[in-house]
Amino acid sequence: MLPPIADRFVAGESPAEALEHVRQLNDNDVKAIVNLLGEHYDDRDAVAADAAEYRRLVDDIAGSGLEACISVKPSQLGLDLGEDVFRAELTRIVDTAAARDVFVWIDMEDHTTTDATLDAFEAVAHEQGGGVGVCVQANLRRTRADIRRLADVPGKVRLVKGAYEPPADVAYTDGARVDQEYRSLLEYAFEHHDGGIAVGSHDPEMIEHARALHERYGTDFEIQMLMGVREDTQYELADEYEVWQYVPYGERWKSYFYRRVTERTDNLRFALRAVLSS
Ligand code: FAD
Repeated sequence: MLPPIADRFVAGESPAEALEHVRQLNDNDVKAIVNLLGEHYDDRDAVAADAAEYRRLVDDIAGSGLEACISVKPSQLGLDLGEDVFRAELTRIVDTAAARDVFVWIDMEDHTTTDATLDAFEAVAHEQGGGVGVCVQANLRRTRADIRRLADVPGKVRLVKGAYEPPADVAYTDGARVDQEYRSLLEYAFEHHDGGIAVGSHDPEMIEHARALHERYGTDFEIQMLMGVREDTQYELADEYEVWQYVPYGERWKSYFYRRVTERTDNLRFALRAVLSS
């Protein structure tokens, strides 16, 4: 069982707890992107164990009839051990998911992994003709070229601002510049990307911008937000748009929870209040 403070951001330690959370989301018309927490494995057995759990999760999702998909991390599927390991595990998961009609997202990690991640995404997307999506980060200078390259790939693209802190030679480090880039990349995607666009942001300005672009270009999009962040807004937006909540679960929840709590003063205040009132 998770401590009560962590369960705002993490759905539990087991797949069953994660799927129970998904059921509650679905009752509120919000769909779910389920992520098993884990990253940077240097041990083949850990990679194989998480990959096997994802395949079981795909079966559970398909069997439950829930509106859910999965999101995997390259370094969880062995990228640190070699691109071949990552590709092999990703392909097996995507094949299993395609057979069960479950969508697979690939999260984007730090900038040293971008090439390997996009190459693997392209390969599986062309092989399956869809059913997969990849995340790209607006703070990276290269993303403008990447998003052009992805316009012809049969898969979805999730645009985020970027959770890592890449060096200035490869990234925009000023928040306002990242926001400007996000808006402009979103516009390019709405105009040129047919495979599906996900706005992975809690920022009301970016969501408003997507809304305006949808009106201008008619392109469909979905909104994606994290569990525990602006949840009331997620439910409200779901009346009008397709909203997906990113739902992390698993025994390795501590570092994820720590990141959520420290990235924003509001979250830190929430955690302190919970500790003081317990
Ligand atoms: P921010 O720039 O953090 O905030 C902008 C505004 O949004 C704020 O001023 C406020 O108005 C509102 N806001 C933000 N947070 C809150 C809050 N807690 N409560 C109330 N209002 C708030 N990053 C990666 O690098 N790789 C990934 O694969 C990846 N996947 C993601 C998947 C999803 C579904 C989401 C939502 C994010 C993902 N991210 C990923 C993280 C992303 O890169 C950002 O770090 C994160 O979303 C914060 O940026 P933001 O656009 O939400 O808004």
